[in-house]
Amino acid sequence: MTKIQARTRIKKHADENEVNVTTTTHGKVSWWWQLLNNAVFDNAIDIPPSRIIIRNFREDMLGYVEPTPARRGYHLGMRRTFYNPRTFLTVLTHEMVHAWELQEFNRMGHGKRFHSWKDTIKERTNLPLSKLVEF
Ligand SMILES: [Zn+2]
Repeated sequence: MTKIQARTRIKKHADENEVNVTTTTHGKVSWWWQLLNNAVFDNAIDIPPSRIIIRNFREDMLGYVEPTPARRGYHLGMRRTFYNPRTFLTVLTHEMVHAWELQEFNRMGHGKRFHSWKDTIKERTNLPLSKLVEF
């Protein structure tokens, strides 16, 4: 799939606001991770998550990224269900910005570096970069 095709695929979900509950699976996360890496990050994220953890977190927590103890990779946590594909993709993109931060700077947060992705993400996918998608 080309970069343009990947962006079109993501944009198809980005403007959907209605309820369309989607269940998270390892396959879905891996597939969309690759699409987003191409569509948004120009494949700059070299390491996919070494573990994908899917479970029901408390209500206000949708996903997380956490460095592995050896700090050579990271674990990606995602909720078991999402309100709709748009929310799923928004959370995954948010976590991928953190993965990129970890890779490039060995740290992550919701500061300037994080928000510097906002316009690029909006332009390439129509998705918002929200800092409100996790704890
Ligand atoms: Zn975050």
